[in-house]
Amino acid sequence: MNTPRPTTGRVKEVTSLTNPIVKDIRLLEKKRHRDETGTFLAEGMKLIIDALDNGWTIRTLVYSKAGKGNDSVEKLAARCLAGGADILIVSEKVLGAIARRDNPQMVMGVFEQRWSRPDAIRPEDGDVWVALDRIRDPGNLGTIIRTVDAVGAKGVVLIGQTTDPFATETVRATMGSIFAVPLARMEENAFVGFAGMWPGMVAGTHLKGAVDYRKPDYASGPVLLVMGNEQAGLTDALAGACNVLIRIPQAGRADSLNLAIATGVSLFEIRRSALTLGEDELGEDEKA
Ligand code: SAM
Repeated sequence: MNTPRPTTGRVKEVTSLTNPIVKDIRLLEKKRHRDETGTFLAEGMKLIIDALDNGWTIRTLVYSKAGKGNDSVEKLAARCLAGGADILIVSEKVLGAIARRDNPQMVMGVFEQRWSRPDAIRPEDGDVWVALDRIRDPGNLGTIIRTVDAVGAKGVVLIGQTTDPFATETVRATMGSIFAVPLARMEENAFVGFAGMWPGMVAGTHLKGAVDYRKPDYASGPVLLVMGNEQAGLTDALAGACNVLIRIPQAGRADSLNLAIATGVSLFEIRRSALTLGEDELGEDEKA
């Protein structure tokens, strides 16, 4: 019989790297352990508070002994504890081992992963989603999630075998946007069906695209922007599922743009009319 989870968490002080809870958290470095537990590690006070404010579930809050007596850390710990999370107060050595780097953040959290169900994606006019074909590089994925958040796009669909969005390196690169951007995943076949039902433009980016990326009228409905794999570009099946193939013109010797840069350039064009500086942010010469 499963022991019911206590309504408030427990507080533990740990100084040993061989402590089983510490060992378990350190294993989150491995995708297999993240998948099995459905959890991941995120670092930093502000990021953890934002995550909680956005309704994410924290299982364990870890902080260094140096945080004892610090008002904000203790307030955060009390909030997590009341929500049922465990609190682990650790030595600098243990904190560094969990973060796997020198000068780690004072506070870290083990969170439950969240995936959106593909059938729950209901695109409306003005919405933009980004689909990524077999993305491999954690830094690219983190940067793309951060950019999707920055332009106010709605979410990201991961197609086929991709790098894990909940890997610590990716989470770091998102700078907190992992908690703001819905993520869905689909195999290629399912995505082709999904794109076929999309009620607006499905724009694939392609080095052989015949349309300048600044030409389409992106404002006429929801846009699904489809990006190719870093090495191989889009598969033929995915290119065939798009109703326009756009290209960013280039000069110089580079064959192509980095995937995250190409995604950013395309997104800022697609969202151009939605992104404006507020009246109080404009320079004198830009004011009407
Ligand atoms: N060798 C790959 C190819 O032939 O497609 C290069 C892939 S590129 C590094 C990764 C992805 O970024 C591409 O599949 C495409 O989605 C996007 N991309 C890069 N440069 C682009 C450009 N100039 N125009 C449109 N998309 C571009």
